[in-house]
Amino acid sequence: MSTNNNQDHDVPKDHPRYESLKYRHNIIEGMKKLIVAEAGLMAHGRGECFDYMLGEKTSEIAKESIEAAVALLYLAKYPVISVNGNTAALCPKMLVELSKIINAPLEINLFYRKEGRIDAIKKVLEDAGAEMILGINETKMVEIEELSSNRRNVDPNGIKIADVVFVPLEDGDRTEALKKIEKKVIAVDLNPISRTSLWADVTIVDNIVRTLPKMIKIANILKNAEEKELKNIVEKYDNKRNIQVSLDTIIQYIKKQKKDAFKILKD
Ligand code: ATP
Ligand code: MG
Repeated sequence: MSTNNNQDHDVPKDHPRYESLKYRHNIIEGMKKLIVAEAGLMAHGRGECFDYMLGEKTSEIAKESIEAAVALLYLAKYPVISVNGNTAALCPKMLVELSKIINAPLEINLFYRKEGRIDAIKKVLEDAGAEMILGINETKMVEIEELSSNRRNVDPNGIKIADVVFVPLEDGDRTEALKKIEKKVIAVDLNPISRTSLWADVTIVDNIVRTLPKMIKIANILKNAEEKELKNIVEKYDNKRNIQVSLDTIIQYIKKQKKDAFKILKD
């Protein structure tokens, strides 16, 4: 019998949905620790649904987007990584690792503010080894006028002055606002037709938990690449094509599932 109160945690490793249940567990635990907002649970569920329709794997076009994203981050004068509750709960160590390799600070930026949430996220990032965290001094924040939500507040030493902002799991309004103030935006979003996906310059249609390790790997490979090579990667990348191919990937996957389902379903 289990001694653990959390059932997800007891899921055997050979369970076909082990990975998915493990990340649900992280999100739920994150909510208990105030890292994740209640609405973050639903956002995660929406992500899972799209992930299911992508076959829960990183597509070839997502790999291309990851390479373009890394090249853009290396070409940036001042790149910043925006962190929300879900990302902090799912992959704090990888956020810190990427931030160190590409030399971009982490900025905590929340849609749902609650007493203690910033401290909880700061702690999980610090425990993961973060040295420089922005967005924690609320009295010093400045506003992005184009936005009405809580997230209009940004750090004057971070997103405010950044030229490239990496925003895993972003909200559409904010992506649009960041574009209006002329930032280059890199998003990770499993939904290829969310407003975020359509507004971003580079949209990685993939699960953040698979994207970050791949970004870190590519960042290590491109670390000493010449500017010319990086520019070439960015110039040949086309986000419109990326969205089209990502949607086609979903369509093809569903068609295959339909065929397979009919092999199981009896008359
Ligand atoms: P938008 O505001 O961009 O139109 P939305 O309102 O439908 O999108 P939000 O709740 O603002 O969605 O943001 C959550 C988004 O994050 C969803 O599109 C969801 O698919 C995506 N998402 C959730 N979990 C993950 C994850 N682990 N990896 C990548 N994307 C995710
Ligand atoms: Mg939204």
